[in-house]
Amino acid sequence: MSELRELYQELVLDHNSKPRNFRELDSPTTSMEGYNPLCGDRVTIYLKLSNDQIEDVSFQGQGCAISRASASMMTQVLKNKTIEEAEQIFHSFHEMVTGKTDPEDTQDLGDLFVLSGVSEFPSRVKCATLSWHSVISALRGQQAPVSTE
Ligand code: ZN
Repeated sequence: MSELRELYQELVLDHNSKPRNFRELDSPTTSMEGYNPLCGDRVTIYLKLSNDQIEDVSFQGQGCAISRASASMMTQVLKNKTIEEAEQIFHSFHEMVTGKTDPEDTQDLGDLFVLSGVSEFPSRVKCATLSWHSVISALRGQQAPVSTE
């Protein structure tokens, strides 16, 4: 367990200090802002869609390590996925961070399994899901910025 915890910390810290796809897209199909007032996390998600496929996804913003690491890992997982697949991955991720699934049943989530630990800290679940709610909201064509409150 302590080994797993170390791996968890290393991956989160790595994604926090070197977030992947941390940039604005040149001509995004859609974008969405998200805000988590409980922690102060702010994120903007950029999506480039080709038919029903996510051709590119990136993010910018500032927040705690969990929110940044989750957004960074999310952009890696969602690239080249269809909108339907993105909805399924979001569902798996949400079940995992709210402690409703066994982390071993979440292999499609890649590095994201390291965030299963947040299920023990309900206030951090909002940090981990902020960027996801923003992406899903954008994919569903919603206009209003996302707030976790
Ligand atoms: Zn946070």
